[in-house]
Parts: sequence; C-alpha cells; structure tokens
Amino acid sequence: MKQFFALALTASLASPGIIQANVPTLAETFTTDVYVLNGTSTQKSKIDRAEQKIKDVVRSEEFKNRVINFTYNGVKRFVDNGGLTNTQIYYKILNGAERLLPSQDNEMDLKIKTYYQNSSTVGWTTTSSMYINMNTKFLNQYSSNETAKTMVHEWLHKLGFTHSKYYSTSRNYSVPYGVGRIVMELASRY
Ligand SMILES: [Zn+2]
Repeated sequence: MKQFFALALTASLASPGIIQANVPTLAETFTTDVYVLNGTSTQKSKIDRAEQKIKDVVRSEEFKNRVINFTYNGVKRFVDNGGLTNTQIYYKILNGAERLLPSQDNEMDLKIKTYYQNSSTVGWTTTSSMYINMNTKFLNQYSSNETAKTMVHEWLHKLGFTHSKYYSTSRNYSVPYGVGRIVMELASRY
C-alpha cells in the first residue's frame, strides 16, 4: 500500500487528476526473483529491501522517462548500447531475458554470492554464471539504494550489456552504470 501511495502521489503531482502511471503493461507486471546464497541476516535483509525497491523503480513512469531520455554528449543514447536505442534498452530490461535464462519472463532473475575482499571491487560477475558476487566490504556500509544500484548494474551484465574495463567519463554512460545510477536515484523515493 505504501508503494502504491508513493506512485499515485508522484503521478498526481506531475499531472493533477491522473492516478495511473503512464507505463506499458510490461512495466506494471515487472517482477524480481533474487536468491541469496550466503551472508548474514543483516546483509540478506538489505538485499531484500533493495530487491523491493528495484521492482518499484522499474515499474515507475519516472524510470521509463529517465531511460528513454538518457543522453550522452547531447544525444539520446547510452555508451556501449549494443546498437540498441534507449527505447529498445528499456524494453530489454522489462523483458528480463538473461543470456543464461533467455525466456522473456518479465522478471529480473538474479543469484547473489557475498564475499569479503579488501579491494576496490564492489561486485563482479562472469558471463558463464547466473551469480553475481558482492563484496561485503561495500555491502555492509551501503544503503539499500546503493545496493540496488549494484544489483541492477551486475544484472544488466546478465542481459548482455557491457562497459569499458577501465574508468573513463564515458563509462558512466554505459547501460550498467547509467541505468544503475538511475535506479539508485529513484530508489530513494521508495
Ligand atoms: Zn560492470
């Protein structure tokens, strides 16, 4: 109920009198299936909270608008977009067809392993595994919004999106970094 109220409030502020968000049915029905292999109950509940926020964010009209209107150097596009337009990227997210689980089930399927390493790596994954690995050095101090960002970033790799291995300004405009940042910013509303 709280989530519905927040969504309705946002919509009514943006356009008085309109309650229902202007999103495709695939956004309204988007869901998540996150499995956490290990970790403490505190870590698990933070991931669970982040999962709920991801679902609410992806369902929102604001998320649709932010992804579709994303710009890099004044052009509506992501860096390393795999030849896809912003709208195609938005629908690819809604379809939820992971490379290793390629049915379009309208769901974010994600398996998480936690580990500790005293390094600057927040999380990592490989193309051959459904698992993403989250470094508890960061997870333990992250808010649920930052956790949501990390989960979405790594999940977008599962959809096949990539980015430069090394830092550059343009890397922040790749799909994993760009959409991850959008999710983190919008997650604070839920
Ligand atoms: Zn990455």
